[in-house]
Amino acid sequence: MPSDLVIVYHRQPYEEVVKDGQTVFHENKSPNGIVPTLKSFFGNVDKGAWIAWKEAKDPANPDFQRTVEIDDSFGRYSVSRLPLTPEQISSFYHVTSKEAFWPILHSFKEKYNYDPVDWPTFREVNWAFAEAAAAEASDGAMVWVHDYNLWLVPGYLRQLRPDLRISFYHHTPFPAADMFNVLPWRREIVESLLASDIVGFHIPRYAANFVSVARSLFDVNVSKREQVAPELISDGTALVERSIPTEIEHRGRHIAVSASPVGVDVDYIGERADSRETEKKVDVIRRELGDSRLILSVSRTDYTKGGIDQLLAYERLLERRPELHGKIRLMHVSVSANRSMTAYESIQNEIEQAAGRINGRYGSFEWQPLALISTAVPFKHLVAYYRAADIAWITPLADGMNLVAKEYVASRTDLDGILVLSEFAGAAVEMSSAVITNPFSTRSMDSAIDQALAMVPAERQERMKALRSTISKYDLRAWAREQQRLFDEVRGPEKSRS
Ligand code: UDP
Repeated sequence: MPSDLVIVYHRQPYEEVVKDGQTVFHENKSPNGIVPTLKSFFGNVDKGAWIAWKEAKDPANPDFQRTVEIDDSFGRYSVSRLPLTPEQISSFYHVTSKEAFWPILHSFKEKYNYDPVDWPTFREVNWAFAEAAAAEASDGAMVWVHDYNLWLVPGYLRQLRPDLRISFYHHTPFPAADMFNVLPWRREIVESLLASDIVGFHIPRYAANFVSVARSLFDVNVSKREQVAPELISDGTALVERSIPTEIEHRGRHIAVSASPVGVDVDYIGERADSRETEKKVDVIRRELGDSRLILSVSRTDYTKGGIDQLLAYERLLERRPELHGKIRLMHVSVSANRSMTAYESIQNEIEQAAGRINGRYGSFEWQPLALISTAVPFKHLVAYYRAADIAWITPLADGMNLVAKEYVASRTDLDGILVLSEFAGAAVEMSSAVITNPFSTRSMDSAIDQALAMVPAERQERMKALRSTISKYDLRAWAREQQRLFDEVRGPEKSRS
């Protein structure tokens, strides 16, 4: 049966476990992550489909079922698994996407590596995703494509199935033309994106950058869309950016450019944070800390996350303010997932070296200033650390959104805790009540952490209240509603049951 909604996302939407020779698909219900929200859209259609890849030594004869039918609490949907060779995966994902696109998207020109890119393989893999989506989609279906590693899919899909509605959502930043146009494949990529009906971003700045890139490459017409989206961006004091829905006209087609920031499941995280289990874990953490205040930093190990700059700021703090020795502790969670990838090889080593140096310089038998954690902390434990942390110190150099910042606030139903947030996290646009810092400035980093350490309870509470009000208004459900509204706008509401 053809599907009215096809989601194209490179990862499979469940955990696949082989037990006693049997393959079992575990529903992925973890509250942190976008996958459950995407799957919830299958509840709005008669049948949905998901396209992902799975490694196969011999793609002509994969040792797994190419399509699996799932019927779970999210609805009925099929999952097409594209068999890709390890070489294809390495080329399209680890090399082209991570070594060439990722640095440019995050404005790190110096990390951009063009030489190993094999563009024909990138095209071939994107074509395979497009073909699989075209095979699943019903007449006029909505196909929802996610993220930069599938940039060419909208263009191929339009060739294969001109009847389809196509929406493309970026989970990363999108840079301005002078950065994006470093990519030699810029015209092909943007031409493909302009084959979509909707191109979505987290924040207006990324949407505006995309419009500027499209303008720099093609003779497009840009206008304001008549139907203005609900105001998604809060008024704040720092970096106010209003959502200005735009329409691009290209080759006679109209493309809606939207900005809608992904949120978190505020209710679920709040409930977890208030649970007895979390409370017990918080007690253990507090006992361990004694009188010390906990500063928490959580990210993947990636040069965009600014781990080194933060550790240097912490080292300066200990140097500048000896009275804090024995009174604070930094828990620096830096999850290294991509150690095997060239782009990430050195960063973990640098972080380990800096952390070792700080503990070596300032630690004593009684006091360790810093705990470095390199393996992922399970979410239920993370919530306890969020709840126990006096300060969440989130200072990426560039970040599409940063869900950790929102999760921290969602877990602070007690209205305590301080968020120090980089202005270069997409989340900063909405979260202007955080202590906003510029991680490229040592002075700004130093004054922000000083301000946080000195903040009186009344101000903490006031800021946390404001932050909680924003993230509750623009939570994950609000994001999903906005996507649905955009879908209905381009395809007419009759295709949707909601
Ligand atoms: N996360 C986790 N355990 C960890 C570190 C991170 O579960 O030890 C989760 C975190 O809760 C968040 C996600 O990983 O949901 C990271 O998302 P974010 O948007 O902050 O950064 P990304 O890694 O997507 O760039």
